[in-house]
Amino acid sequence: MKAKVAAVIGGGASGLAAAAELLRASSGVKKKPRVVVFEAQERLARKLCASGSGKCNLGNRHIDNSRYNGDKALISSYVTAYDAISDEEFLRDMGIYVTDDGSDRLYPMSFKADSVMTAMRGYCLSLGAEFSLADTITSVDRYGDRFLLNGSFIADAVIFACGGPSAGRLGGSASGYDLLSSLGVPRPDVYPALCALVPDKKYWPASMRGTRAHCEVSLLVNGYRVRIESGEVQFNEKTVSGIPVMDLSGDAAAMLAAGRGVSLEINKSPDIPPDELYAIAYSLLSRGAYTRAEDIFACVMPRSLYHDDLRVCAIKPDETLSPEDDRLKKLCRRVSQCVYPIYGTVGFEDAQAVRGGYGSDAVDPETCALRSLGGVYVCGELLDADGACGGYNLTFARTTGRTAGKSAAGLLLNK
Ligand SMILES: Cc1cc2nc3c(=O)[nH]c(=O)nc-3n(C[C@H](O)[C@H](O)[C@H](O)COP(=O)(O)OP(=O)(O)OC[C@H]3O[C@@H](n4cnc5c(N)ncnc54)[C@H](O)[C@@H]3O)c2cc1C
Repeated sequence: MKAKVAAVIGGGASGLAAAAELLRASSGVKKKPRVVVFEAQERLARKLCASGSGKCNLGNRHIDNSRYNGDKALISSYVTAYDAISDEEFLRDMGIYVTDDGSDRLYPMSFKADSVMTAMRGYCLSLGAEFSLADTITSVDRYGDRFLLNGSFIADAVIFACGGPSAGRLGGSASGYDLLSSLGVPRPDVYPALCALVPDKKYWPASMRGTRAHCEVSLLVNGYRVRIESGEVQFNEKTVSGIPVMDLSGDAAAMLAAGRGVSLEINKSPDIPPDELYAIAYSLLSRGAYTRAEDIFACVMPRSLYHDDLRVCAIKPDETLSPEDDRLKKLCRRVSQCVYPIYGTVGFEDAQAVRGGYGSDAVDPETCALRSLGGVYVCGELLDADGACGGYNLTFARTTGRTAGKSAAGLLLNK
């Protein structure tokens, strides 16, 4: 009997984990399956190599449902199955030793993303995986109870690990959706996630551009607050970014696509509430400490952050405010509740994740097997789960890749 063949489409974080786990699960078996990873790019895992600003934030000490958006059944099943010890052992088997950066975020000890790719590639090769680089899969057809890829490669099982359209320059593409829809699987609606947002330029003050500050950011949909995140916000010329904004961006993108009005309410003084801010300003002005209005909050936040709020409250930057002036109270409230309408996102090209994908109706969360067609597995970014910033997406890609690989091994060894 000839060895069974598995094709892995995509040599990114999930595809390499799938190939490795499939071969690990087949170790000691006489007729080990042949595993071929097809990668469209000339290099493997380009997204992983760019991750964490080149340092690869590959995990997090706290994996829980609250850090993911998407299909609830899929996420719950993945979180339940995730085992930190097994994950660390898997990484160690590849030669990847992890450490943190003083927070819950996990990195390779080298803090170099390309060392992770090198280790994953080396581990797959040592287990017998084959790589076909610069080889884009453009068709997958049924061939009896097997599959025909690009009209010439026959496989007994196919693992779709193609990722989604985020970061096209690093290999992101929608080809997984095209291939799966050719097998009769309905195409999911997808939106950019973990990306910067584009404020409506009419309401985006030039004076804030280039400023970074710790803020609390609420996502307002049709005027209602739906989510709050906090952290450093980056106020750029045409965009607003930073971790809290990125974490809200998937929701914003989906809501904008549904035709809802989306705004960000930014609290520029998250640690000092408006009443206390007013008391501080009142005391300073009463003592004659500040003669220019633009200096009022200078010890609490960058001046550039509230320069435009002075204008909105009809206060001239160089005027001397009386502590009793009503405009002072208004200014204190305003800096805690600035609302900026959002026009859109920067799009998939500059997104780090994808909102939406194949959910538990299409894919069995426990095995990553496609429900409608035996022998097909789906993992990583193609699935309907996107994590917050902090190593959640690479953990998801690696874990679901391993699940798909293990399930495919189960099928091939029993076929
Ligand atoms: C700039 C950036 C920084 C990030 N930083 C982090 C981080 O620090 N921590 C974190 O957890 N996550 C991070 N992410 C997200 C993380 O990289 C992704 O979630 C993860 O790479 C998804 O893995 P994947 O294998 O599903 O898809 P991908 O990594 O996209 O891999 C899919 C592969 O399939 C190939 N492919 C696609 N179609 C075909 C085809 N038809 N034929 C053959 N090959 C094909 C692609 O070329 C690609 O190499 C970051 C993402 C970006 C863009």
